[in-house]
Amino acid sequence: MVQTLSGGCACGAIHYECNVDPVLMLNCHCRDCQQASGSAYAAVVVVPKAAVQMRGEPRYYRIVGDTGKAVERGFCGTCGSQVTLKLERLPDVLGLQAGSLEDPSIYRPKMDVFTSSAQPWDHMDPGVPKHTQGPPMVSVLSRLSCACHADHDVCPPDEVSNGVP
Ligand SMILES: [Zn+2]
Ligand SMILES: [Zn+2]
Repeated sequence: MVQTLSGGCACGAIHYECNVDPVLMLNCHCRDCQQASGSAYAAVVVVPKAAVQMRGEPRYYRIVGDTGKAVERGFCGTCGSQVTLKLERLPDVLGLQAGSLEDPSIYRPKMDVFTSSAQPWDHMDPGVPKHTQGPPMVSVLSRLSCACHADHDVCPPDEVSNGVP
């Protein structure tokens, strides 16, 4: 079911809309997400970048993560709310912070990733699949389907990580 996702930052300077279904929703427990969020994990809604309409320009902070690939975190320069995530290894998708959604109750995490750095005080839902490292890229990419395959190579074998189906 396609539902329009919308959301933005606390002060309203940044607003987004996305009218296609998310590719993936996941809780990331990496140290970088912990530091950036100031909490136990980042709840991220992954959507095709091309489907997002953005009003206002997030400021981006770039960091090279454990995978050796850059992650850019978009936040509002006025109110500091984290809104977006760009992943160098998946240039066709955009992460939206679930807390920035207009209706965050629609968030349904499909996996917990980087659980090797999850905090002991963080209670994780045992019903959600766990990955000690990053998300299995193959499942992310398969959901992007032909739109990406059309104009560039999105599935080099080295991006199929961690042997997780
Ligand atoms: Zn703001
Ligand atoms: Zn993370």
